[in-house]
Amino acid sequence: MNKRGHVLNALLLAIGLGFVIEPSLGAATARTVAEITVPIVLGALFPDVDTAFGRHRKTLHSLPVLGIFLAYPIVFGNLQYVWIGVLTHYLLDVVGSRRGIALFHPLSDREFGLPSGVTTSSKYADLVTVVVTAVELAAFWALHTYVVTLDLDVSAATRAASEAAAGIGI
Ligand SMILES: [Zn+2]
Repeated sequence: MNKRGHVLNALLLAIGLGFVIEPSLGAATARTVAEITVPIVLGALFPDVDTAFGRHRKTLHSLPVLGIFLAYPIVFGNLQYVWIGVLTHYLLDVVGSRRGIALFHPLSDREFGLPSGVTTSSKYADLVTVVVTAVELAAFWALHTYVVTLDLDVSAATRAASEAAAGIGI
């Protein structure tokens, strides 16, 4: 997918996730959309830096790179939400284009993709992007609701768990 597709994907996703994370529909939702849009768009732009540094669709399109972005909010308490942009970039490359990505680089250069993709110049590219975004939104909603808060704020989660434990007398 080209830069346009990745930015479109990230923008739509950020707006949708603003409502997932802060469903009050008021100023708080607008604030959340503003808070997460720039990090997610930056994350979505990052993997294609490997067109200039390293090898495209390999060096910065791998699970270890995603792991680094997941670690930042947990270890350092910064770069929240950037991992979401990186992850959706990978998904859009895998699902929405013909060529795959080297998920296990540098261990293996094998590229993983789905035959479902359209070429980046296809007239269906935007439609594919919107459909992929809708599926991603549903998946992130489930993740955020049932598994883990999307900002990966471990300190808040720990606090909530200890308050809950105190509440039931543990
Ligand atoms: Zn890419």
